[in-house]
Amino acid sequence: MSTTEFSYQFNYETFKGKVNFPTGIFINGKFSAGANRTTIDVINPTNGKFLTSIAEGTTDDVNRAVDAAKRAFDESWGLRIPGAERGKLLYRLADLMQKNWDELAALEALDNGKTFNDARATDLTMSVDTIRYYAGWADKNHGQVIETDETKLAYTRHEPFGVVGQIIPWNFPLMMMTWKLGPALATGNCVVLKPSELTPLSALRMCSLINEAGFPPGVVNVVTGYGETVGRAIAEHMRIDKISFTGSTLVGRKVMEAAAKSNLKNVTLELGGKSPNVVFNDADIDLAVHWSIHGIFWNHGQNCCAGSRIYVQSGIYDEFLKRFTAQAKALKLGDPFAKDSYQGPQVSQNQFDRIMEHIEAGKKEGATVHLGGERFGTLGYWIQPTIFTNVRPEMRIVREEIFGPVAVVIKFETEQEVIGMANGTEYGLAAALFTKDITRGIQVAHQLQAGTTWVNCISSLHPNVPFGGCKQSGVGRELGEYALDTSVVFLFILPLHEKMANLFVLLFAIS
Ligand code: NAD
Repeated sequence: MSTTEFSYQFNYETFKGKVNFPTGIFINGKFSAGANRTTIDVINPTNGKFLTSIAEGTTDDVNRAVDAAKRAFDESWGLRIPGAERGKLLYRLADLMQKNWDELAALEALDNGKTFNDARATDLTMSVDTIRYYAGWADKNHGQVIETDETKLAYTRHEPFGVVGQIIPWNFPLMMMTWKLGPALATGNCVVLKPSELTPLSALRMCSLINEAGFPPGVVNVVTGYGETVGRAIAEHMRIDKISFTGSTLVGRKVMEAAAKSNLKNVTLELGGKSPNVVFNDADIDLAVHWSIHGIFWNHGQNCCAGSRIYVQSGIYDEFLKRFTAQAKALKLGDPFAKDSYQGPQVSQNQFDRIMEHIEAGKKEGATVHLGGERFGTLGYWIQPTIFTNVRPEMRIVREEIFGPVAVVIKFETEQEVIGMANGTEYGLAAALFTKDITRGIQVAHQLQAGTTWVNCISSLHPNVPFGGCKQSGVGRELGEYALDTSVVFLFILPLHEKMANLFVLLFAIS
């Protein structure tokens, strides 16, 4: 069972220091090389060069991970340990993440290409806050008492599923990991998690922190590897009781199918989007431009709820476009570790090719490239912030998720017209709208088909606010109390021969 180490000397103005930690398939609190002892190369998106290699997991490794998780669930986790104790471990994990804040942010920047400053400010803040938020829930997982008639009393008890499979993408590697670990561990589940093969480093670093926090071995297991092997094995596994997947709609469909064909495991899917961003004539134009830039160019457009379709009402269309273009042009592309970089490279050659292919399709289909539309630099995977105008609804750049720094800006006249256009998509993850009229804000928000609608802001996420999609953007919700509701709820009907004096009688009877 040999393990490898990831060792890297960071030497930037923003972050200096040597990072060194074990890697491998993480099962039962230990790293190993994996059943086949083969590896996957991880590429640095900044220059396209080899960064490190990680273990390539197999179905056998997933089986071992599930065995470990099941054993931990039966022996040391689940309802065998009080919720408050699970909460303490989660708080400890959050404290350790806080202690290693800059190192985790540096790993995200190195592996994904996002800027170090943004990883510090956004990814780490949200990740640590999410673990703390769910730590607080661990001892508050209450059921209900429901009266039926005078002879019966029902109560619900929230029980964990058992072993939960979790598959995450590469765009917010650490954040996605915490969104999944937080509610699963707080409610007493054990986990088998697969990070994206493109960005495994922060998940592997978290394994050491999970050990250091004192989680019993086997409660969290991480199997690195490809989606078609490790991901599929998790989705198909007969002893995994629930799967939580974040990624593309294409793969989400496969995960749901695998769940249906195996043991009908419970499924949560957080999938893609093509989110509309609607700017009305009465909007605060500075605010609308500021957030619209953030909406599409933050994280290089690799954001599931990116406001990629920008609809602007005719009265302010020209002015909006002028200011939006000027700000997009001023965005600084450069080294993710440079102090003033706003945008780093896209994550991989594949993603770069996919985005460039969409840009070419937009040009071919007759849209106007208003800004950008080309590669930036010669090394790595940078793409210029790109704005298309003169688009038609049937164009691919208007219909398909591009997942890159590419916006389409579309003029509209009336409220009803824009609601129709905004909803004219198979996706329903998020939407945003800008208006000073609160009544319009609420009325239009209620008519947009989206899991989240932001009014006068965009992509604002909070651990305590539920997030998820409708239509083909997902099933179920993450974050907030809603993420806890996916735990099993049992209903017991107790025949009662006498009226109960009060609830405590029952509590004493069952304790
Ligand atoms: P992806 O679907 O290609 O991969 C996601 C994960 O699934 C990866 O770990 C991958 O290895 C794995 N996978 C691939 N094939 C699999 C299979 N057959 N069975 C099981 N697992 C498999 O997505 P991606 O390119 O990593 O991420 C981008 C997508 O994720 C975008 O569509 C984006 O909108 C979506 N996303 C959604 C949310 C959300 O909360 N709704 C958040 C982030 C990203």
